[in-house]
Amino acid sequence: MRYSKLFGKTLRTAPKEAEAISHKLLAKGGFIDQLAAGIYTFLPLGWRVHQKIENIIRSEMDALGGQEFSMPVLAPKTLWQETGRWETIDPPLFVTRDRHEKEYALGPTHEEVITDLARRSVKSYKDLPFSAYQIQDKFRNELRSTGGLLRTREFFMKDLYSFHADEADFKEFFKKAIAAYTKIFNRVGLKTLVSQASGGSIGGDITYEFQIPAPVGEDQVFFCESCGYAINRQFAEEKKVKNTCPECKKKLAQTNAIEAGQVFSLGTKYSGSMGANFVDRDGKEKPIIMGCYGIGVGRLMAAIVEVFHDKLGIIWPENVAPFGIHLVSIGNSSKVTKKADEIYEKLTKKGEEVLYDDRDESPGVKLADADLIGVPERWVVSETTLKKDSVEIKKRSEKTAKLAKISSL
Ligand SMILES: [Zn+2]
Repeated sequence: MRYSKLFGKTLRTAPKEAEAISHKLLAKGGFIDQLAAGIYTFLPLGWRVHQKIENIIRSEMDALGGQEFSMPVLAPKTLWQETGRWETIDPPLFVTRDRHEKEYALGPTHEEVITDLARRSVKSYKDLPFSAYQIQDKFRNELRSTGGLLRTREFFMKDLYSFHADEADFKEFFKKAIAAYTKIFNRVGLKTLVSQASGGSIGGDITYEFQIPAPVGEDQVFFCESCGYAINRQFAEEKKVKNTCPECKKKLAQTNAIEAGQVFSLGTKYSGSMGANFVDRDGKEKPIIMGCYGIGVGRLMAAIVEVFHDKLGIIWPENVAPFGIHLVSIGNSSKVTKKADEIYEKLTKKGEEVLYDDRDESPGVKLADADLIGVPERWVVSETTLKKDSVEIKKRSEKTAKLAKISSL
């Protein structure tokens, strides 16, 4: 991609309402654009990152045995009334009406929709277990939406739902889902605390949050550096866990953290209230055992930036970077332009993802933009490098650059 043609350029200053580092850097870098409070457009650079994260999540969900669905955003009020959540869900639903005055919720989560589908499809234990997921647009009617992509009113979420005949089968899947989540976070470069938490308005008695330690995080987590035990502060108060690890009796540490994912053991909460039953081996009708598992894709993207940045800009981990190489031509001599064009064509043909800054801008502007955008490798072509038939290669995460012969590339 030629940067001169790319829609969405870097900004000199961050939007004045931006407080979180990720909000500032993603806006300044030309990744996102705010339409209204908590509502964002992903510009081409930002959407590339979003899609890379989606694909990592998708591959781990497929490996777990999940089948990809796409459920509607609009869900009828009657469905939400069956579980009682039309009135009680927190934050309250975004509600809309059709021209017949029928009300619908813009889905913040899809337990009702998938449970309705299950009760019409699952007849016997032979239809179980199965798991379904989607990566789809969600809505949250937040009172305040600040923090950029950390707390939005519209966002893409990966939500997975699993259906089981018995508790033992559920527990086995639940363990595998937690392992898949840990793998997803590792693949995007993050370490998470798997922290015990309360089910909130989704429900369940065993729920875990995947917490990414970061100063900007709205959650507080107690964790044990010795055995890995972690618990959300609110839940710790409920459970009367204080300074000592209940597992190994060592002292607990505390951190602010961003909740990037959560898994819930739902039991029969939804299947019971909605009548999603199956006939078991013994011929008895029983409610299906369920679990649900969510990851906010945009929030994860913001969390990555919160962890991987310096004062100059973002430092994308390779697996989620919008491009692999940021090629910069310095000076506008025809020799430099010709050589840079040639390298760009060659790399692109080889299948490398290259962002090529071919603008007629000063070296200072171009190099500052490269640091801000944060592509893992920067390749500079200038009169000086060409004297040695070389390009100057610098990793965004390192301080020093090295020259590499063009013929060897
Ligand atoms: Zn411990």
